[in-house]
Amino acid sequence: MSDQVSRRRRAAPAALLLLVPLLAFIPAASAPIAAAPALPAGARGLWPGESVTVRGTRSVIIGQAAPAAPISSASSVSPAELARLADTAALRVGTVLGEPVRPLVVVPASAAEAARLAGTGPIEGLAALADGDRVLVVPEVFARLNPTGRDVVLAHELTHVAAGTDRLPVWLYEGFADYVGYRDSGLPVRTAAAELADEVRAGRLPAALPGPAAFAADGSDPARLARAYQEAWLACRFLADRFGEGTLVRLYREARVDGADRALAGLGLSTATLTARWRAYVREQLA
Ligand SMILES: [Zn+2]
Repeated sequence: MSDQVSRRRRAAPAALLLLVPLLAFIPAASAPIAAAPALPAGARGLWPGESVTVRGTRSVIIGQAAPAAPISSASSVSPAELARLADTAALRVGTVLGEPVRPLVVVPASAAEAARLAGTGPIEGLAALADGDRVLVVPEVFARLNPTGRDVVLAHELTHVAAGTDRLPVWLYEGFADYVGYRDSGLPVRTAAAELADEVRAGRLPAALPGPAAFAADGSDPARLARAYQEAWLACRFLADRFGEGTLVRLYREARVDGADRALAGLGLSTATLTARWRAYVREQLA
């Protein structure tokens, strides 16, 4: 699963721009192009040369048309397919957040172009990343994911974009994004958290919620990185299981305003008591 969960965490603004209000309930095939509103800032001036724009029922996909690496080639995913996937992800994320989510997905022709657009250094192994008000797809890596992996990755990154990450501890925003990403995946916990399950079965429980160092995507320890996401996911999954999904969403929003400590205190938890209960949950779920 590590390939499926390779993603870059990236700060994102609180709200995704409302892109296509007029088209929200109109199937893509009948979308009246003349009525389409102007593209948002994150979709303009991306690259020299041609772009391909596809509007889904909720999403807008901007693809780079590059002769050397056509976005419709077998090594990539077509903008029309991405629109379908992004519409599904938007529905899933919007259901959890309780608000409409309208993704802007940018699909450059290559990982190199994605790295240039992201401006954050190497993005090796990443399938997609949240970048401001948009999701950037890394075409070669994304195309290698299986259908479940594509759904999980898009919902994960779209959660970052739609819910924001500012002021939050990394375990909370990565765990929340994976909570939404895996929520409807149908994957068993032991499958989605395979690396962590191996550790638990070997008698090693994580001692603390994963911090920034555990999420370092420098390629030095892919298994540790995978476990960091899984640990964070199970912390949020525990909160949803124990207190309800609505409470998890409220906690997330309160934490963005007041900080995680105060938000947790509203549930009678401290980081220490959450950690203890999360460790017991990890053992119960994976042992
Ligand atoms: Zn993430």
